[in-house]
Amino acid sequence: MLTNYERLAARNKEYLWHPFTQMKDYNNADPLIIERGEGMKLFDVHGRAYWDGFSSVWLNVHGHNVPELNQAITDQLGRVAHSTLLGMANVPAIELAEKLVEITPKGLNKVFYSDSGATAVEIAIKMAFQYWHNQGVRGKTRFITMNQAYHGDTIGAVSVGAIPLYHEVYRPMLFPSHVIPYPCAYRHDGGEREVLEATLTSLRHLLVARADEIAALIVEPIVQGAGGIVVMPPSCLREMSALCRKHGVLFIADEVATGFGRTGAMFACDLEEVTPDLMVVGKGLTGGYLPVAATLATDEIYQAFYADYQEQKTFFHGHSYTGNPLGCAVALASLKLMEERSMVEGVRAKAAFVERKLAAIKDHPHVGDIRQKGLMIGIELVRHKATREAYDWSERIGVRTSLRARELGMLTRPLGNVMVFIPPLAANEAELDAMTDILIESIISVTEGAH
Ligand code: PMP
Repeated sequence: MLTNYERLAARNKEYLWHPFTQMKDYNNADPLIIERGEGMKLFDVHGRAYWDGFSSVWLNVHGHNVPELNQAITDQLGRVAHSTLLGMANVPAIELAEKLVEITPKGLNKVFYSDSGATAVEIAIKMAFQYWHNQGVRGKTRFITMNQAYHGDTIGAVSVGAIPLYHEVYRPMLFPSHVIPYPCAYRHDGGEREVLEATLTSLRHLLVARADEIAALIVEPIVQGAGGIVVMPPSCLREMSALCRKHGVLFIADEVATGFGRTGAMFACDLEEVTPDLMVVGKGLTGGYLPVAATLATDEIYQAFYADYQEQKTFFHGHSYTGNPLGCAVALASLKLMEERSMVEGVRAKAAFVERKLAAIKDHPHVGDIRQKGLMIGIELVRHKATREAYDWSERIGVRTSLRARELGMLTRPLGNVMVFIPPLAANEAELDAMTDILIESIISVTEGAH
């Protein structure tokens, strides 16, 4: 007789193709199958509890099974689950748009909904392109992105992506983008000042030489996420945005990972008082409950699409579930909770607590770099601290450390040799304490055992 778990595991193997996963490798191990969540923990079908140490892919805000969020969805379900924004509106979509305009950087006044970070990036790219086209400016068709950038997995988003492992295979079908260096101080002997200068100089040269063929620069503000949780030096974002403005190139901020309090500000752009021309949000928008994303635009962008006839200047883009009322209702409830609980301020205090805890492994011989902004944390593991020599990928140090953390009761997903710790924003000090202890113990036991 097969157990319930064995039956599920067999069907998981038979029918599912998992994202970003080498299935042959995955199918060799017993799968973790989640059944429910409660607060900061997820429970598998055996009833075993795990801390959600990566916020279920960087998006959970208030924890799981939150009564207020459940209620918001239930209330909306009793009204309508979905209609459409084609030719009509719905109540939660209007209310959420107003709220987003209120909390995002001043000047972003229009909200265009979609359903994932990648689609919201596609929208920003198409809007930037058509913004110039609609004004009769031809030739501004290219984008600038940053080395190791990640903006999602649809073709436009991959075209402005710059992580070879994920993006290179698709190169023949992508539109070309200009890539400027990302200011990563750890991998450069000159430190922050030099990497900042290298980035700004490269951007300046590109803009001076080619601004007439460039529609926009797209950036993950302050923290580059999938590229390894890398924090920009101070002033970088502000100076890049000023350079773009000076040379007539639009500035797109992709806040999909950094938005909604993650970095200790409501948006990472707030940290340097930058208002982008287009801003992309997703992930934490619904507290991590439902797939809603949005692209926000300034009045200037919006006006370039405003005309008398449908055939003229219209933005012909939309998804069937655009402005989904269930998603918008839960997003509103999540933002209300964030305000009532002063969560953004809370993130700063919690970040300081985690930083103090992680100081315990700062000098560990295999901890190369601890990078942190708010509750977005990456710990780069290295073979030799002094030389910064990387572990070989074949050693799977990140994967093994994550598996050890899972044995100790916490879920996380590494980025190569970088351990990622992105707990739900609502985690309290005791919960963060327990999670950080597991992170530290798994790093120590795997890296010391590796030699
Ligand atoms: N942009 C950034 C900066 C991201 O980190 C991600 C997802 N990790 C995306 C876009 C894509 O979002 P989604 O997975 O919702 O398509």
